[in-house]
Amino acid sequence: QARKRFGQNFLVDANIIANIVAAIAPKPTDNLIEIGPGQGAITEPVLSRCPTLKVVELDRDLIPLLKAKFQQHPSLQIHQGDALKTDFSQFYEADRPLRIIGNLPYNISTPLLFHLLSYSDKIYDMHFMLQKEVVDRLAAAPGDSHYGRLSVMVQYHSQVQPLFPVPPGAFRPAPKVDSAIVRLLPYSQPPHPAKNLAKLAHLVNACFQQRRKTIRNTLKHLVNAEQLATLNIDLSLRPEKLSVADFVQLSNQLTEMT
Ligand code: SAM
Repeated sequence: QARKRFGQNFLVDANIIANIVAAIAPKPTDNLIEIGPGQGAITEPVLSRCPTLKVVELDRDLIPLLKAKFQQHPSLQIHQGDALKTDFSQFYEADRPLRIIGNLPYNISTPLLFHLLSYSDKIYDMHFMLQKEVVDRLAAAPGDSHYGRLSVMVQYHSQVQPLFPVPPGAFRPAPKVDSAIVRLLPYSQPPHPAKNLAKLAHLVNACFQQRRKTIRNTLKHLVNAEQLATLNIDLSLRPEKLSVADFVQLSNQLTEMT
């Protein structure tokens, strides 16, 4: 019985599962971690290619099921816990950057992405099943209707590659929304480094809280008129027109002023 509060929609479509595993391309030497293995739909084919797979599952009732199902695979490490609170640095190993995968519970996907991106310098790549709309937001470019806080903050840390859509019928029970697979490739060094990441996050947040307003309107609450005049940007733009590089440059200028 799937549990709604844990966002449980189990994959049952063999073709989709094969396509996901092909996109991940697990290798025996990978330091792979799966979030939310559920009943093991993706775990099983990945484990056969990468015996040292680790999984993090919140639902206690699934742990004995996973142990029984994979008892022939003693090198599988099963961790019971909340991925949002998991310290992923416990999985660090020299020369084995983390590879993270998961058909994520959609109710926690945004906070989980931010939690994982805080380890981005140690992560090689991530493959996730997400609500299609979230993948559209992750991948959106300036000017797209989906472009917003999530696009800017995730693209600051990582390259985003939307891979393919997954229809509701691929799951039991079927979710109400379309899903999609996305690959994230975190930068070892962001191409446009922020002097103060918290300030960048604050600025992006403030701008998109009033996405219909010009950035002049948002910025006038953050700096005085004199400082506003020295900013190196067209203040008549709306935030949805600003690239990640624009936001970083603006944030770095503000960081030097305040
Ligand atoms: N991977 C399986 C599949 O594709 O069939 C299950 C996917 S289901 C959408 C999400 C899984 O994440 C469930 O097994 C659920 O119990 C687990 N889960 C939910 N919240 C979690 C959390 N905070 N940390 C770790 N796992 C979680």
